Amino acid sequence: MFSPATGTSTGTSAGPSATGPSTGASFSSAGGASLAYTGPVNARTARKIACDADIIPVVLGGQGEILDLGRPQRLFTAKQRKALIARDQGCAFPACTMPAHWTEAHHIQPWSHGGTTSTDNGILLCSHHHHLIHQNEWTIQIPDRLPWFIPPPHLDPHQQPQRNHYWTLC
Ligand SMILES: [Zn+2]
Repeated sequence: MFSPATGTSTGTSAGPSATGPSTGASFSSAGGASLAYTGPVNARTARKIACDADIIPVVLGGQGEILDLGRPQRLFTAKQRKALIARDQGCAFPACTMPAHWTEAHHIQPWSHGGTTSTDNGILLCSHHHHLIHQNEWTIQIPDRLPWFIPPPHLDPHQQPQRNHYWTLC
């Protein structure tokens, strides 16, 4: 199912696959990926890694032919990260107190789904909350250029939007 992590992909009968030549990672549409030094990882881990990595997706057909060469995934620039720090000040997840230098810039709308690398589509999250967001239970919206977190129904049946007020109290 997974191709060797050599920066190329052979595809599978289950559908096309994608590869990140600069990382040696191979991603499968069947779910999951194979990394050069660690081997197979599940789809959730693959998405989180792809969120932060500089990856040019190449979609290959079953015979290894190139079906699509994607746009480069750009990391947030230093200037964009400074803007995110100025806005979020630390992890933006409600009640989290993790300072900015321990956060990662997250694409709210994933790059793989057309999300841009812009401050309006970026947010600072600590590693714990970055993993949590990639589990797709919480959603993030920036209706007023400030991030709001919508909890899943099993945590709040009314799904009342929440913000992190810790940083505004400092
Ligand atoms: Zn956090």
